[in-house]
Formats: sequence, structure tokens, C-alpha cells
Amino acid sequence: MPIGELMAGTSGTPAAKGVPLQADAHTVASVPGAPASGPGADGGAPGASGAGPGDTATATATAGNGTAGAGSAPPVGSGTGLRLSGVARVFGQVVAVSGVDLEVPLHSRLSIVGPSGCGKSTLLALICGLDEPNEGTIDVLGATASAERLRRCAWMPQRDLLLPWRDVLGNAALALENQGVRRRTARQRVGHLVERFGLAGFEEKLPHQLSGGMRQRVSFLRTLVAGKEVLLLDEPFGALDSITRADLQGWLRTALDAEPRTTVLVTHDVEEALLIGERVVVMSARPGRIVAQFDVHLPNAGSRRELIRHPEFAELRDEILSLLEAVA
Ligand code: ADP
Ligand code: MG
Repeated sequence: MPIGELMAGTSGTPAAKGVPLQADAHTVASVPGAPASGPGADGGAPGASGAGPGDTATATATAGNGTAGAGSAPPVGSGTGLRLSGVARVFGQVVAVSGVDLEVPLHSRLSIVGPSGCGKSTLLALICGLDEPNEGTIDVLGATASAERLRRCAWMPQRDLLLPWRDVLGNAALALENQGVRRRTARQRVGHLVERFGLAGFEEKLPHQLSGGMRQRVSFLRTLVAGKEVLLLDEPFGALDSITRADLQGWLRTALDAEPRTTVLVTHDVEEALLIGERVVVMSARPGRIVAQFDVHLPNAGSRRELIRHPEFAELRDEILSLLEAVA
């Protein structure tokens, strides 16, 4: 199913046909949990400060699933996607990332692999404006201010951050509701997608009644329906069983081929990085730096099995795996 349909809801409805990838966001949602300021002097997480436990859960979940910030649709088509120049982020004594220069052209897909703790999640939080770098600049579709970056990005965090009191449809529909879609309509729209995401029959279950993989799929669905130009996916398939994971990887690849978005995928799975990314970036252990970039030229068509058997795929996989062993 095309992502445009995901955003618009039901295929066959007028809204679902030819829907642009930008959300036609007509409301301005507040941005709870979104930091307006840069890194605090203590190096703590700016986005989490100041709210009580309950507030934090709500705020983070709201911001963390592509629903933070709406307003008018960001400009698309300038040719500029994401650009990071000399980005560093320090948490107290810990230099999480340093000297990161990165370009992701509009509508292209970048995968980031690197050892645990090398700053991959930090980079995504920086790009989407939930955090600010200590050094360097970040440009997202022409915007550098954190609130503007946030408006342009749908971020799927590593932890699912579902709202515990909302059922599957309610959680998945949150992004649409934040864009002003009525609750019932939003539930209907995502309701058409639950089967594709392996959630049929669980529409009214609460997060604690779901497996980890199911929660992750709800979070993934919520991110995609947010309808933002930039998709930031932090190990989106990490908790899934291998069959569901392969299925959703294939689906995402096809969907992004059909309706491209500017995508950054963080993963520890080199095959996943190659299947989805048009370019793969390898980071070093902390302080995370970019040590290599690989362009991936695989045929568009072709089953997962064919792609994995492709000589270029095997060659790149081996090269990246050896590099990861060397930098870990
Ligand atoms: P990765 O996603 O590659 O596993 P992270 O980006 O989560 O790595 O973390 C990189 C480093 O920054 C780690 O050492 C982590 O402990 C530290 N870090 C990340 N976020 C914070 C934070 N909010 N406060 C303090 N340290 C942090
Ligand atoms: Mg991480």
C-alpha cells in the first residue's frame, strides 16, 4: 500500500488518491516535550527536562512518534534534504558524536550502522530537533531552528513509547488526531491498515496486552501515518520476529520506492541497512564519527532473496561487517 494511502487512510476514498507525501496539516499541535533550547549545561537530555513523570510520558510519546508539531506543510522540492555539518553532542563528560558531516538528498534513504552506544539515536534526536548539537549545524529541508526541524520529521524512537491508556487504534491514530483529524475518523483510517501490520484482532488491546513486536509495529504505523517528509527510524524492526521483519522491510522498501521520503534508518542489521538504504554510513565507536559511506546500487525490482544473493549486496555486506568489527 502506498504511503500516501497510509497517510490519507483508506484506499478508495477521495482523500487517498494522489495524496501528496506532505501532510496537509491544518492544525497547529502544541509541541509538548519538544525542547526549544540547546543542550543544558549539565549535558542532560533537553527534551526530558522540566516535566513530571506523567507529563514526560505523554510528551515524549507524542513527540516521539512523528506527531510533534504540525502547522503548514514544510516546503518540498528545493532539492535539499538533510545536511549536518560539523555536528558534535556532548553529555557531561561523554562525547556522544563528534565532527559529523552528513548529507541526505531529498527523497533519498540513508542507513546508519555502528556499534552500540556510538551515538546513532543521538543523531536522530538531533536531526528532528528534540536535541541540539553543542557544535555544528543541522539543516532539515531548509530549516535549522529546532522547532522547525521537528515539524518536518516523523521520528520512530527505539523504545515504542506507546500511551498505556490508549488501545492499538488510539495509539496508531495519534498522529492524525494531532493534525486535526477527528478521533473516530482517525481510528477508521488506521483501522484499514492494522491487517497489513499484523495487528488485526488486536485493535482494542492496550499496549500491556501486546508483545514487544506488536507494540513496535503500532509505533511504526503511527510514524508512517504522520505524513511527514522526513522519516527517522530508530531500529524500527528490532523487536520483530524474522518473518515479520523481512515482510515489513520488503514493504517499506517498495513503499519508499513508490513514494519516496527523505529517510534515515538506524539499524544494527547490515542486511536491513543495505535493503532499505541507498547509502549506508558506518559509524565508529564513541565518540561516534562517520568512518565510511557506501552507495548501494541494487535493482529496484527483485525479491528480498534475489537482492540478498546479488553479488553487490554480498560484497557490501562483507565489507561493512569487516569494518564494523574493526571499529567496535
Ligand atoms: P546508540 O544509539 O548508537 O546506541 P546513543 O545515541 O543512544 O547510542 O548514545 C550515545 C552515547 O551518549 C551513550 O554513551 C549514551 O550513554 C550517551 N547518551 C545518550 N543520550 C544521553 C542523555 N540524554 N544523557 C546522557 N548521556 C546520553
Ligand atoms: Mg540507539
